[in-house]
Amino acid sequence: MIIYRDNLINRLFSSSEFQKFDFSKNVKMKAAVLEKYNQFTVVEKPQPKMSENEVLVKVKFASICGSDQHLYKGDFHPRTKLPFTPGHEFAGVIEKIGKEVSGYNIGEKVAVDPIIWCGECDACKNEHYPACDKLRLIGIDQDGGFAEYVSVPPSMLYKVPENVSHEHAALVEVYGIGFHACNRANVKSGDSIAIYGGGKVGQCLMQAVRTKTDGKMFVIDIVRGRLDIIRNSYPDVRTINAMKEDPVEVIHKETNGHGVDVAFEVVGHAEQIPNRANPLRSCVQSIRGGGVVCVLGLGDEEIPILFKELIWKEAQIIASRVSHGEFSEAIAHLEKGDLKPDALITSVLPVDKIQEAFDMLEKSPDKYLKILLDLSGDAG
Ligand SMILES: [Zn+2]
Ligand SMILES: [Zn+2]
Repeated sequence: MIIYRDNLINRLFSSSEFQKFDFSKNVKMKAAVLEKYNQFTVVEKPQPKMSENEVLVKVKFASICGSDQHLYKGDFHPRTKLPFTPGHEFAGVIEKIGKEVSGYNIGEKVAVDPIIWCGECDACKNEHYPACDKLRLIGIDQDGGFAEYVSVPPSMLYKVPENVSHEHAALVEVYGIGFHACNRANVKSGDSIAIYGGGKVGQCLMQAVRTKTDGKMFVIDIVRGRLDIIRNSYPDVRTINAMKEDPVEVIHKETNGHGVDVAFEVVGHAEQIPNRANPLRSCVQSIRGGGVVCVLGLGDEEIPILFKELIWKEAQIIASRVSHGEFSEAIAHLEKGDLKPDALITSVLPVDKIQEAFDMLEKSPDKYLKILLDLSGDAG
């Protein structure tokens, strides 16, 4: 844990702009570029420049996130300017090390934390970095890991043990989101949990929760394929298809009328399902008196709740954004083998097929959860 605090604090100083040196003049790399919305092109372009305070990471695998799908469709416009290379969930090996960097070796396996804090705003001064006013992400605010190389300061690196595969290392970022939400909601051993939303983040969160509590767990979604993945990988988790069953009713019935200790909202919008409350209000209705609702589903809609339901329970609603050094926690659990990354990975495609990968996710959300892009060049 000490390592991770150091990493976070160092990042404040190392994320500012350095003079960049073009170590690799004329050296090209393959990169997926979003040239217009809904259209990727895989091109050869110069490797990124790096400063003496940075390392060059050779990306092995990158994972496609729900945010990438929004970015692809233009929902991040104008924050993201085209042409652009996304990718904020990725991992690889160190290819080159700047002269002022120590403690790393060429060829070392690393996962890259894409978050850059400003270090100057009120949140940063209070070390509450995920709430940074000017928070930026590699792969959202600057070119990211859907490319063969990325240069970053070492404070953004987390070493990955040998027994964790490159494919699994590419999921450390999204697992970190899950562990951060657990920490925000203070999930404890024995806690019972409901997760509204069983998509990419919801399932990473579910797996993170399972490392902390073996209490009763419910995951609610309306996409059958997602619920099937959960039933196959975590048969002890009670899945609820909200189109068929009333989740609040089921949760109360199966917790003997108590409700759960913590409910997570990972949907981010007000699903219109007949005779059901919206997911956020359902969270409030699902918890016990004095329970916690933790929201992390990102959306642009207003979602109404009835405050009386919250007040009568004297409950808390807290928010969770990105992660806060939980890379260490995610990596430690992957190393111990108590997460199930293979359950999440429904496809691995060479980066040349990125357009196909996005089409698959858009057209068949019931079939595909996490799709990895292979940048290792080993796929042939
Ligand atoms: Zn993501
Ligand atoms: Zn800040």
